[in-house]
Amino acid sequence: MADEDNSFGVMHATPIVYCGRCHENFGEVRSNGLLGDFVRCPNQKPDERTHVCRVIKPQSGEFWAISESLIYRYESEFSPMRWSWFGHHFNGRVGTYNTLRTVVILFMAWLANLIYDSSLPAAFLWLPAVGAALVLLDIMVSNTSIVFISRFAASAFRSTFEMIIGYAQFILCFGVFYYCLKDGFSVNLESGTDYSISYLEGVYFSIVSATTLGYGDISPRHNYHWSQVLVMLQLIMSLYYGAIILGGVASWINEPKHLKPYRRMHPVEDILKDP
Ligand SMILES: [Zn+2]
Repeated sequence: MADEDNSFGVMHATPIVYCGRCHENFGEVRSNGLLGDFVRCPNQKPDERTHVCRVIKPQSGEFWAISESLIYRYESEFSPMRWSWFGHHFNGRVGTYNTLRTVVILFMAWLANLIYDSSLPAAFLWLPAVGAALVLLDIMVSNTSIVFISRFAASAFRSTFEMIIGYAQFILCFGVFYYCLKDGFSVNLESGTDYSISYLEGVYFSIVSATTLGYGDISPRHNYHWSQVLVMLQLIMSLYYGAIILGGVASWINEPKHLKPYRRMHPVEDILKDP
């Protein structure tokens, strides 16, 4: 791969070590891969002794190593997170990036509304639907990498918080999908007449489904296979989300105290004081 000069482009990213002096994560360093192990920093010159480099993500199995390298590849080559904005990467500017992502999702809902109000054919609804799907892909990949790769783990609490934001965005994305199929749902009205859901009702249906609450006041209409397929997809993804949020909370609670200074990127003097 041509992109191996940065620490995110490596193909076999296990184990991950972090050097407190270089303030950098490294993917390919020889070690037994136990959490907290001291390893030799790749940047350390033979006469230097001040690099404090430790394993922050232990070695994982082969299946996960492949998934990890795919995730790295997506994030370093395709995700807008790598784009520059006023001279900065979004990577590491999690708040800005999440705000932007939310704005894009709401823009897609607005776009769908615009298409409904115009005389454009319904096929144009693929535009906001695919837009929201791409944002959803980005959310799922980055939230998966937070839990399983901990590249972002400046603080496990922050990572958990970001996943909760990601879950909210996941709800909003499915709201867009449902809104793009606004006639694909039956709504419990006394008259039983045709009804088209609004974006807000799409989000409402999305959250009621994702939490497995299922009031049943809005439900996929018979013979509308797209709405049925989408609901099935959301339920499975929502179970996965529950698992990764729990994983995030667990790593936040179990975060070894002695690793905190390394993760939070304190200056090297503070790290050297650590026994
Ligand atoms: Zn170093």
